[in-house]
Amino acid sequence: VFQLSVPLNFLGSVYRELRQSLLDMETLFNLQKVNVAVKDKPDAKPLLLSSGEIKFENVTFGYRPNRPIFKNLNLTIPAGKKVAIVGPSGCGKSTILRLLFRYYDTQEGRILIDGQDIRDVSLESLRKAIGVVPQDTPLFNDTIGHNIRYGNLEASHDQVIEAAKRANIHETINHFPDGYLTMVGERGMMISGGEKQRLAISRLILKDPPLLFFDEATSALDTHTEQSLLSHINSIIKERKRTSVFIAHRLRTIYDSDLIIVLKGGSVAESGTHEQLVDRAGLYSELWSAQETLFADAEEEKEVAGDA
Ligand code: ATP
Repeated sequence: VFQLSVPLNFLGSVYRELRQSLLDMETLFNLQKVNVAVKDKPDAKPLLLSSGEIKFENVTFGYRPNRPIFKNLNLTIPAGKKVAIVGPSGCGKSTILRLLFRYYDTQEGRILIDGQDIRDVSLESLRKAIGVVPQDTPLFNDTIGHNIRYGNLEASHDQVIEAAKRANIHETINHFPDGYLTMVGERGMMISGGEKQRLAISRLILKDPPLLFFDEATSALDTHTEQSLLSHINSIIKERKRTSVFIAHRLRTIYDSDLIIVLKGGSVAESGTHEQLVDRAGLYSELWSAQETLFADAEEEKEVAGDA
């Protein structure tokens, strides 16, 4: 009896681990709003990436067919450029990303990556090509080191550390009680929103995908950390010529993009560089002025508080 209880206990713990990781996957899938109806075609081929151009052609889509979010949306995200997608809350910025990942299929029109309709390629190759730093990063009940390695399971410890350094989180991890072996997640040490975002960026650096998406990726960081991280990200993008898309509310984080696409009412309201859009005196320029006023007020408040 005694001998038998050992392997049973062992199995029990394996079962608990397995159960926990399934729970984690569920959370991850819920966060990403996966639609299981989307499947590979029987003859699906792997996505072949060349330059990394993304095109939405006449895309009509709504979560409910009678409530379209996009109506004949046309947009091109040029290869190797830094592109921002902005627009009022609820205009469909994150939906662009969900469609690209094929969590949903379009009702009309098509989405092309380097000329290939994403419905013709395997889901695995499609999702492997896209890296995302989401608004809320899922953490696994595991060590912080493994949480970074989740970006690339084959990465060595040195590569994990290098990625953490580039994402500005190495020093923070060194101050954790067990360094890279510190348990995080629901059953481990709680880490802040800003630390989670830097963790997600280190995962992305390890994954090194050809297409990069940042969905409000630096919103939980203070201005100083955000600026320093954005300049790191910018240098990675430039150095490796990655197509990168920033979904953003705060225009200060994206005004230096090669192209800014402004969505409104289901289609592209305007697009261009920051200078072009400010000159146009349209929606972007309105949003920019409103945010700059808020920013100036906040700075003034800080100064007043500092003087007091
Ligand atoms: P925000 O700037 O506030 O993050 P967003 O521009 O990214 O918004 P989306 O998240 O793309 O907007 O959502 C677009 C619209 O679709 C919103 O009205 C939202 O409520 C709705 N929506 C999003 N996800 C679903 C869903 N799974 N089912 C039904 N409606 C949804």
